[in-house]
Amino acid sequence: MSDNGKEALLDIRGMEVHFETRRGIARAVNEVDLTLYKGERFGLVGESGSGKTTLILALLRMIKTPGFIAGGSATFDDGTDLIQLSQADVRQARLARVAMVPQGAMNSLNPVMRIGDQLILTMREHGIEGEREQWLKRVEELLDKVGLKPEAARLYPHELSGGMKQRVCIAQAISLNPQLILADEPTSALDVVVQRQIMQTLRQLQHELGATVLLVGHDMGLMAQFAERVGIMYGGKLVEVGTVHDIFHNPQHPYTQLLISSIPSFETKGEFKGIPGVALSLLDPPSGCLFHPRCPQATERCKAEEPRLAEVAPNQLASCLLHEEDEHAPAS
Ligand code: SF4
Repeated sequence: MSDNGKEALLDIRGMEVHFETRRGIARAVNEVDLTLYKGERFGLVGESGSGKTTLILALLRMIKTPGFIAGGSATFDDGTDLIQLSQADVRQARLARVAMVPQGAMNSLNPVMRIGDQLILTMREHGIEGEREQWLKRVEELLDKVGLKPEAARLYPHELSGGMKQRVCIAQAISLNPQLILADEPTSALDVVVQRQIMQTLRQLQHELGATVLLVGHDMGLMAQFAERVGIMYGGKLVEVGTVHDIFHNPQHPYTQLLISSIPSFETKGEFKGIPGVALSLLDPPSGCLFHPRCPQATERCKAEEPRLAEVAPNQLASCLLHEEDEHAPAS
């Protein structure tokens, strides 16, 4: 049980994902520690290349060569470490324990198979037995849960709109009642109205199933509406974690502060403020704090010392030297 009164579902410790390139090793996920609680909606935010999608692919053990999991663990409350499972056990754990709602629904559905058959196949592959009648009933239930009519079962993916396809992917993801749903920018290719509807469906299902949802994205507005807690990633590292309220109203890491101030609002009247500098190169990362070349609050110490993620306020973690005592400072 944590300080926030919730029970832990998945404890990620020291997660490391590397990519081997001709120019050296890129640390795409760099010593990430994160605890996800039962039944929570957690949002993981960061610019492209920050490691957020790589982290969830690592949890599903779907990192492809030249990438590999170089270290770390992801342990469920019953002691099962996803990183140590055999390939056969990982296949069973996918969907049954951890399911993914992908970014592009178009690429994850079989174009030559009817929707109903795809849903049945998914469940069969995971060892669920049943008669044809039972399967059809289950498909109908799943489609209903995601707001689709039973007739959708007879359609092929090309006969569905983008939003409907994404709903089918959600139906597939919840078909085995997983404890953890990983959603990778599930609405990025959809228009704003459909985006909101899909997120509402996901939220309602999460509530009904009591599942934990880890939503990955870069749309801070969507995160504010969906998530209860938010984690911010930069350069493969988790740099801040807090409740959605604290992240938006009291951010403690300079990168989060810049992210929040770059959100357009009615007060800023169309003036867009970007984050200075360019995203770092994972092949040639800066010394000390990875954010120091872009940080308006950087000091000489930031070039030499690496900050660690630590509690800076109740239930709020940040990795910034401004919050750490300088061990080398002369005593006053
Ligand atoms: Fe900025 Fe230094 Fe904090 Fe890094 S450690 S975020 S460079 S102030």
